[in-house]
Amino acid sequence: VPIIVWFRNDLRLADNPALAAAVQDSATHGAPVIPLYILEDEATDATAPSSARALGGAQRWWLHGSLERLGACCTRRGSPLLLRRGDAGAVLEALVAETGAGSVLWNRRYAPALAARDAAVGERLKERGVDVRSFNAGLLAEPWTVSKKSGGHFKVFTAFWRHLAATLSPPRPTRAPATLKAPKDRPAGDALADWTLLPTKPDWAAGLRERWVPGEVAAQSRLAAFLDGPVGAYAAGRDRPDQDGTSALSPYLAFGELGPRQIWHAARHAADARPELAPGIEVFLREIGWREFQYHLLHHVPDLPDEPLDRRFAGFPWRTDAAGFRAWRRGRTGYPIVDAGMRQLWETGWMHNRVRMIAASFLVKDLLLSWQQGERWFWDTLVDADLAQNVGNWQWVAGSGADASPFFRVFNPVLQGGKFDPEGDYVRRYVPELAGLPRRWIHQPWAAPAEVLRKAGVTLGKDYPHPVLDHGAARDRALTLYRTHKRRA
Ligand code: FAD
Repeated sequence: VPIIVWFRNDLRLADNPALAAAVQDSATHGAPVIPLYILEDEATDATAPSSARALGGAQRWWLHGSLERLGACCTRRGSPLLLRRGDAGAVLEALVAETGAGSVLWNRRYAPALAARDAAVGERLKERGVDVRSFNAGLLAEPWTVSKKSGGHFKVFTAFWRHLAATLSPPRPTRAPATLKAPKDRPAGDALADWTLLPTKPDWAAGLRERWVPGEVAAQSRLAAFLDGPVGAYAAGRDRPDQDGTSALSPYLAFGELGPRQIWHAARHAADARPELAPGIEVFLREIGWREFQYHLLHHVPDLPDEPLDRRFAGFPWRTDAAGFRAWRRGRTGYPIVDAGMRQLWETGWMHNRVRMIAASFLVKDLLLSWQQGERWFWDTLVDADLAQNVGNWQWVAGSGADASPFFRVFNPVLQGGKFDPEGDYVRRYVPELAGLPRRWIHQPWAAPAEVLRKAGVTLGKDYPHPVLDHGAARDRALTLYRTHKRRA
């Protein structure tokens, strides 16, 4: 009797508890294993609950590469990955009927609407006598296993992490199975190419292809390379977009090509083997802690994608400004660090965390556009888009989220640029039309003397835009609006 392993955001063979359980059953009972991926094309219209959205364009590109590689790994082990498309419940019920499968195993998802749907799918299968089991592959600690001494969920990261770091002992990751027993009659599936996950016309994915290799193998080598040295300088380096100071593991985590337990154990091992790396590793694991915290929050506050966590922000009078929003998306605000970030995002599907904060702050506070608009744009363009991380971070920048990031703290793009991209190299890379400007003016070309601009070959308003707004005035406008709204709320 075959066992179906339903892959979702866990596109890896190692440290995959659902797969490991299936392989164990298979060894005991001689049952074949059917690895399955279902393309659940969510409704892209407004009726889709915001925690069950369709994948954005950048992630469709990534998914293609990831499934290609996972498929090759499954085939090599003996049982090819089956691809089907449609409503997951219906696909699974049909496949069970077709193959006579007795078990369906999967690793849990945490976005509230998806978790609820998975539970419903599980119930329906159980009613048909199918053995349904789910596992944790995605988190160090699932949200319902962590609570405050006084009861209730954590609302502040520091307390959450203090608690978690002291109590955690995640199980050791399992190895990828050596073989997978295939069913005698192979069920027919879709061809990956027919899913048209890759962009065709226009092909905007050249930068993504150049920057990334999706898949479990690449994830492992990226982790190993990072822990082999660069992590030592992470504490200071993580804030520098002009350097490769971070792990760039986020898309692998988003697709589950790598799991946090693998990171945890590899990092602990590296810290033991090379004590000089330990301080950087602590800071790095704390960031993995932030990822956990965002899942914790989203689980306990399921309307987080739609409503401000701090209810005083409900009904905040965001502006509408189509031209401003377009300038932001295209990296043409006239503020070089913001524009460099938005162009890095468009070109590579990723943006450095420090610049995400600066660019997000610019949208929400300078342009006074709702964080949801920015969050949706990130969703479509990030290869690491992850509902819990994206929504949690956007709310944090907007001042309505968890932890102390008050609305009145407005990022100054010129000062931030000077501090974190001191030579201007990051700007020069993504905003090449400013490459000739000396460091003194690179973050504020409008203030440069005419002679300097001429020498650098920059005509403002032609080669590069004038600022779409004056930051000082925009800051005052935001603070006034915030004070008035808070008084009313
Ligand atoms: P590293 O610095 O190497 O960190 C290691 C891992 O820790 C990351 O891969 C990530 O899993 C986690 N991490 C790091 N910073 C954060 C953080 N601030 N919050 C939560 N987890 C963190 N991250 C996403 O994965 N998906 C998103 O959709 C996303 N949207 C964001 C939107 C905004 C407005 C902001 C400010 C941040 C967002 N982040 C998001 C968080 C962060 O920017 C990325 O996780 C990070 O830049 C990924 O690069 P890295 O893997 O090199 O990170």
